[in-house]
Amino acid sequence: MNSMHFTDEELRALLSNPTPDSDLTAKAAAIRKSVYGNKVFIRGLIEFTNYCKNDCYYCGIRAGQRNVSRYRLTSEEILDCCRQGYDLGFRTFVLQGGEDLWWNDDRLSALVASIKDLHPDCAVTLSVGERSRESYQILFDAGADRYLLRHETADTCHYGALHPGNLTLENRMRCLHDLKDIGYQTGCGFMVGSPGQTVDHLIRDLRFIEEFQPHMVGIGPFLPAAGTPFACEPAGSTDLTVKLLSIIRLMHPEVLLPATTALGTAEADGRERGILAGANVIMPNLSPPEVREKYMLYNNKIATGDEAAESVASLRRSMEKIGYEVVTDRGDYLDHK
Ligand code: SAM
Repeated sequence: MNSMHFTDEELRALLSNPTPDSDLTAKAAAIRKSVYGNKVFIRGLIEFTNYCKNDCYYCGIRAGQRNVSRYRLTSEEILDCCRQGYDLGFRTFVLQGGEDLWWNDDRLSALVASIKDLHPDCAVTLSVGERSRESYQILFDAGADRYLLRHETADTCHYGALHPGNLTLENRMRCLHDLKDIGYQTGCGFMVGSPGQTVDHLIRDLRFIEEFQPHMVGIGPFLPAAGTPFACEPAGSTDLTVKLLSIIRLMHPEVLLPATTALGTAEADGRERGILAGANVIMPNLSPPEVREKYMLYNNKIATGDEAAESVASLRRSMEKIGYEVVTDRGDYLDHK
């Protein structure tokens, strides 16, 4: 599928004005349909630990947050979430968490291997932050298929404004290159409207995506989190996020592109708008309802007490209403090149 190239001037014009562009949305929806039809892939998101050793300035579960009640699901609890998710039609499980040192390579690789033993037809995605190349290799050998690690921003100075000095863009990029090199379907991404972000930063993010050719891209609006250094910063624009989804789809037609929880939190119909603009993945929460409120990355994050079954049923209905179909499928990256 031919990817579209935008000049810097075209991107600057599009991104300087968040107002929706119906022509851009229609083109992105058409190209998404020609690659993935009207299918929406679902991933069962299991937020399995909110312990984190890092202090990212934007994040509601950063190490320095005092009012967070910390939890760590047991392997049994995680396997129960997978079992329940499997029965509901999920064929991908995403294990996401803070950078929790308790989950060392032995424990995490044993967990991944158990999920793959019980559900050999499912993909396992990890999203557990920065680790060594050796660690990524061990987890891949245990059966992990995909890895999500947002690059957050492709600009070194901006990266420094969002993170404390022990976290560097250089190491983030090293991780992303190691993951892809090892053979993971790899996802990068960024928050839209993070403090200090400029249109030039966004253009740089898009150029990085063009060059890196990730299999997945996760973007969502920045939303302030109480108690963090950025608690009083304004939220990112949902219109601009939706516009960026269309641009990313056009630049990279095969990419797996979620309409994220942050988009659904910022606006009641945010995920539907994301799908209509070119996204093709949704990641419903499979975590036990009683821990969801503890994984508060930002204020008002969707954390209903709904059982997974209820939320999948309502998701199916809302997708049908806009002409899309939630499918039972691993939803792997389709490489047409
Ligand atoms: N620890 C892992 C990592 O760093 O990749 C995974 C968990 S981390 C909480 C997942 C993502 O949440 C981050 O990459 C970040 O982009 C997003 N996030 C964190 N705080 C946010 C906020 N205040 N608003 C929007 N997204 C946020």
